[in-house]
Amino acid sequence: MARVQFLGTGNAFSPAGRMNALVLIDEKILVDTPPTLMPQLRRENISPAEIEHLLITHWHADHIFGFPFLMLDRHHVSDPSQERNLTVHLRPEGRELLESITELGFPGSVEKGTLSVVKWNENEITNLENSDWKFERFKVCHTPETDPHGYELTHSNGFVFLHTGDSGPCEEIDSRAGRADVILVEMGVPNFVESPHHHTPNDITALAERFPNSKILVTHNFASSELERNGFPKPKLSNSIMQLEDGDEMIISENGEIKFVNKNT
Ligand SMILES: [Zn+2]
Ligand SMILES: [Zn+2]
Repeated sequence: MARVQFLGTGNAFSPAGRMNALVLIDEKILVDTPPTLMPQLRRENISPAEIEHLLITHWHADHIFGFPFLMLDRHHVSDPSQERNLTVHLRPEGRELLESITELGFPGSVEKGTLSVVKWNENEITNLENSDWKFERFKVCHTPETDPHGYELTHSNGFVFLHTGDSGPCEEIDSRAGRADVILVEMGVPNFVESPHHHTPNDITALAERFPNSKILVTHNFASSELERNGFPKPKLSNSIMQLEDGDEMIISENGEIKFVNKNT
């Protein structure tokens, strides 16, 4: 069995009722470290020291600016003797970038030692140690300066979870979407915004029509949560597409069946 928790489902603007997009797998694999990371972990009673793998998609602030807080907590509170493993999976030059925002945010407070116990992995294909998952990282279509990537995650039972990162439609996603059981797509902007670097509601409808056998989940939503009366209304999408809410969870059984729960609603 595997568990994928959607601890945040909002884009960079934190629409009403949503924190920044954040995925937690099996309580120890994180995809990205948004600025709202710490309250998101606290709300689920997950200690920062429990995170063993961190997969980074790209260098936008809503995806990485929580990193210094993760390290500050591990260093001073949850793992002061530095016994717990943390591997950060990222693109070349990412280590320097994450070290520099940590030093900028908490100068002198997160000693170099804390960051030197982190393992830095730049391989594009990796079996995640002490877990049932492996990944393949792939390039996506987003602001080029952020070196944007997605992750194709495969469970040992064969289940494929395609995290397409922050991206507009692109061939690299389509080449993998057909074999994915579940495709997670970031819907950063509404239809009236013309940007090749983000999926709009119309782009997601078209993706669902091209890949009718894959379950499509929407995160990084520009629209407010359905629990909020104010803010940007949620676009209407076909019933086969699920616009996630914060706190949604996907449970994957051994035979690959999925079910969704949300203990907040
Ligand atoms: Zn983003
Ligand atoms: Zn982005």
